[in-house]
Amino acid sequence: MPELPEVEALTDFLTEHLVGHEIVRVLPVAVSVLKTYDPPPAALEGRTVTGVTRHGKFLDLDADGLHLVTHLARAGWLHWRDRLPDGPPRPGKGPLALRVALEDGEGFDLTEAGTQKSLAVYVVHDPADVPGIARLGPDPLADGFDEARFAALLDGERRQIKGALRDQSLIAGIGNAYSDEILHAAKMSPFKLASSLTADDVSVLHKALRDTLTEAVERSRGVAAGRLKAEKKSGLRVHGRAGEKCPVCGDTIREVSFHDSSLQYCATCQTGGKPLADRRMSKLLK
Ligand SMILES: [Zn+2]
Repeated sequence: MPELPEVEALTDFLTEHLVGHEIVRVLPVAVSVLKTYDPPPAALEGRTVTGVTRHGKFLDLDADGLHLVTHLARAGWLHWRDRLPDGPPRPGKGPLALRVALEDGEGFDLTEAGTQKSLAVYVVHDPADVPGIARLGPDPLADGFDEARFAALLDGERRQIKGALRDQSLIAGIGNAYSDEILHAAKMSPFKLASSLTADDVSVLHKALRDTLTEAVERSRGVAAGRLKAEKKSGLRVHGRAGEKCPVCGDTIREVSFHDSSLQYCATCQTGGKPLADRRMSKLLK
């Protein structure tokens, strides 16, 4: 799933490729993808793209005052096409969800793999009309997101820190992958309660959060849309790397699985050498 750094890189990429170009066709191919009906997607046709911005993990194309907003969700992706196929796309079982064509034959496809469809597209006059954007917490790379701001957000927070970091209404843009990376960099257990963090912990976590995201953004910047997924994967130190060696201490990276996701961590770096309980592992051992 694309998170803040990848959506930031897509924003850069699309700014370069779309701004100043006219949208000639918007074709929703998958019925479920469009979450708004008024104005219709056709209202974007004939308009020139004037800007591309990011709100958390949302991508926002401004077509002269009308916005095409996309949330790529878990398995969604954007594919840039230097040359779109001539014929209209066929609705059906393929991953293609929505196609946007420009006046010069270029354009992009939004696709979604798998059967669980959660890719969402909105056509709105104001991005704040998208409920997920209206609910967003502050952007962690914004200038004002300093240690004091972060501490204030965590004040009174009772959840485990991994869950809190992923809550878009608390902080915008961090998902399952970068929360694992941030906690590994901070040498902190994902299950640590936010309410138990000392002032020093908050300071360490704030630095880990800013450094991890900034590095990922720098790495992805200038990478073409088609290569972003591989770029993200290559930069991750623990996420998705269960069984591999921790690049910091050499211990084996472990995993905790939940019914529809999993987290990865290093016991030596993050939990004082003590493995966290894993439902799936304990079931297997029974
Ligand atoms: Zn380690």
